[in-house]
Amino acid sequence: MDFHKSRYTPMSRRRRIYEGKAKVLYEGPEPGTLIQHFKDDATAFNAKKHEVIEGKGVLNNRISEYVFQHLNNIGVPTHFIRRLNMREQLIREVEIIPLEVVVRNVAAGSLSQRLGIEEGTQLPRSIIEFYYKNDKLNDPMVSEEHITAFGWASPQEIDDIMALAIRVNDFLSGLFLGVGIRLVDFKMETGRLWENDVMRIVVADEISPDSCRLWDIKSNEKLDKDRFRRDLGGLVEAYTEVAKRLGIMSEGERPQGSGPVLVKS
Ligand code: UDP
Repeated sequence: MDFHKSRYTPMSRRRRIYEGKAKVLYEGPEPGTLIQHFKDDATAFNAKKHEVIEGKGVLNNRISEYVFQHLNNIGVPTHFIRRLNMREQLIREVEIIPLEVVVRNVAAGSLSQRLGIEEGTQLPRSIIEFYYKNDKLNDPMVSEEHITAFGWASPQEIDDIMALAIRVNDFLSGLFLGVGIRLVDFKMETGRLWENDVMRIVVADEISPDSCRLWDIKSNEKLDKDRFRRDLGGLVEAYTEVAKRLGIMSEGERPQGSGPVLVKS
């Protein structure tokens, strides 16, 4: 299929398939494709806290593109095809598995709260957790027993998801370490992709500072969505710093709306 030749459809005429808190999915130009649009909305605590942060969507689109493109290149299958413009990317339509897969390397957030482990404590090994994607229930943590008993994924699929999660964690940890950032934890989603009656599990959704905890190696400064969750301010500046360190944004480039960027290191 040649996605480059497809005619441009103004956004207003595209069919909206799904609207989430930070993204919108539109019908894609070819069957089996969708357009993933990144909004500037930031939410936390199951959308009880909500703000529009100008420029966040553009940054997440670019950072997620960078991560997914590299995952594709090293043979980790994802839904990503290519970025279309500042806020949109072309993706393969997948059947989303209703689980948030969290991988942790360092104690933080809900793990620290639930188990009383001080934030910043290195974990003895990487830990994978599953949460059932259900806003009404506040995304409860579930075990493999729940997942198989309720049919959200089969035992084989759970194995595949865990293997993907470990590969993504290894790749991301190295990527960020190389630019002076500690990958504390992250959340990923997966989906079923069918190709000629063969189904495989791929990485879906986004991987960005909205879904990762990223701490500067030297200062421990937070370069992720905790800036919003914890009212620290400077979210766009922090995401811009992540993009710059990854070599995504050139020095002169900045997302619309953000002022001159000054980052302490
Ligand atoms: N996370 C996410 N979406 C969610 C919940 C968590 O992207 O709905 C990410 C979060 O950014 C962090 C990791 O998953 O990188 C672990 O989050 P945690 O369980 O500590 O929950 P939180 O403290 O964010 O409530």
